[in-house]
Amino acid sequence: MNLEETKNLVVKMFDCFWVKWLHEGTKPANNNFERTLNAVVGTILPIHCAMCLNLNGCCFVKTKAPAIPLHEKCHCKLIDISLITPKITCPIEKFTKYIFDESKSNGKKELFESWGYSIIDSENLVREFTRQAKLKYQCGEYSLGNLDAYGQRISIIITLPKKNGMGEVSFVSGWMVYPNGEIVLTTPYGGK
Ligand SMILES: [Zn+2]
Repeated sequence: MNLEETKNLVVKMFDCFWVKWLHEGTKPANNNFERTLNAVVGTILPIHCAMCLNLNGCCFVKTKAPAIPLHEKCHCKLIDISLITPKITCPIEKFTKYIFDESKSNGKKELFESWGYSIIDSENLVREFTRQAKLKYQCGEYSLGNLDAYGQRISIIITLPKKNGMGEVSFVSGWMVYPNGEIVLTTPYGGK
């Protein structure tokens, strides 16, 4: 991402209108354990919809929020909020134990290596993914992905310079939306 592109994103940031998904009367699920609990409880004891429980507290730009109402008798609301403070969670294991693990990465290791990145670059990749995801989420530069009982996923384009040649490479990364401006990396490389 060059300076011009960064500048354009920052301008966009101030044009974003943010909304927060509200499922009143329940606590937002802030981690994977609470997510799973909601998904299970929502399935066996369907007092509340698991999707709504796991959307509770999640923030979206107004034009890219899940459709409301989500189902019949959905009592969720979208409330207007001011700018969010993004929190980007990008576990290093997604690189050290997934992308660069031959047995799991299904060709992704070779792909990253062809751009000049290896396991010793994991910390740098975390830093770069975090920087770009923060800027792009904050500007509403994301696409809504799959929504299920575990929550809403979004995808964000990441651009990396090729270390061993000219130019750069762009691809899709996958993130799970958590309450109050947090997104968590689930898929570092989800295709071009
Ligand atoms: Zn609902």
